[in-house]
Amino acid sequence: MADNIPATQSKKTIDATGLYVVPGLIDIHTHVFVGTKADKFADGIFSVSPDDFTFKSGVTTVVDAGTSGWRNFSLFKEQVIDKSQTRVLAFVNIAGSGMSGKPLQEDINDMNADSAAHVVEKYKDIIVGVKIGHHEGSDWIPFERALNATKKSNTPLFVECHLPQLSLEDQLKKMRPGDIITHSFEQVSERMPVVDEKGKLRPFVIAAQKKGVLFDVGHGGAGFWFSQAVPAFQQGLVPNSFGSDLHRFSMNAGMKNMLNIMSKYMAIGMSFKDVITRATWNPAKSIKREDLGNLDVGAIADITVLSVLNGKFGFTDAGANRIQGNHKLEAELTIRAGKIVWDLNGISADPWKLELNKK
Ligand SMILES: [Zn+2]
Repeated sequence: MADNIPATQSKKTIDATGLYVVPGLIDIHTHVFVGTKADKFADGIFSVSPDDFTFKSGVTTVVDAGTSGWRNFSLFKEQVIDKSQTRVLAFVNIAGSGMSGKPLQEDINDMNADSAAHVVEKYKDIIVGVKIGHHEGSDWIPFERALNATKKSNTPLFVECHLPQLSLEDQLKKMRPGDIITHSFEQVSERMPVVDEKGKLRPFVIAAQKKGVLFDVGHGGAGFWFSQAVPAFQQGLVPNSFGSDLHRFSMNAGMKNMLNIMSKYMAIGMSFKDVITRATWNPAKSIKREDLGNLDVGAIADITVLSVLNGKFGFTDAGANRIQGNHKLEAELTIRAGKIVWDLNGISADPWKLELNKK
């Protein structure tokens, strides 16, 4: 490679005719604290390795959704963040050991606002907020402590639900403008859906959106249902971002990757422009990282080149229901910090032709 590309060559011309050049995509809901522990997300095999999934779907930045807590964040950093080409940011879990399963992640004594805020401060280039989720108790102490940690660190709260005894209405009431709720369009027993039995968006959900609470898709394995997402979209609850909730159990189901979620929303009726905004600039703003998600002069050279395929494509939700769409987004080329990290059809490569060996 070095033989063919002079080291002094700082600019390269790539023919992107018919393609769309957009900022590198940002996925604000992933679980990438991969390790060796069986049946665990934190340092375990339920998480996935970011580089295995990101660039091929145009994603240059992922935010880990509290798979690590304030106690084991440094292991996550050492083991994954520092070793990945993908930019990995994180919400740190209020539970000290993050998503380490029961009983550890339910231990209120290990949920400490000061400790969490301290870790956010220490790693402020990487940690963008605090997460609450996966708590089965009926008291509000974990939620309040997570909220407290965000107040101390001036960061957003990321609410991942799995809080079966805390009502959605009360959760949304406690959330402030800029706080993020994910799994917005789930229809599961552990949380009241945003759309009621008659297909109407609940008034307190509209009120939360008006107040400034941000609704992330958080597709995952069970977090996205057309029965919720479509009426919500039609009644004005448009997601602010397309967090995929990437993990071992969502990657091969209806979710697939963030581009598939984006294509799904085009099939639901969102314009291409709105889809791109929600995959780039919106998530950048929501994690207060305005250096990302745009192509302004001086921005980091995280760039994605997309093609829009035309045809008949099927998209499924968590209930194995299918809708049909006429467009599908594909990552043609992904550039991370100025370096080509994915090139589907070799558009950055030189055309090859047979030449006789010259000796
Ligand atoms: Zn998640």
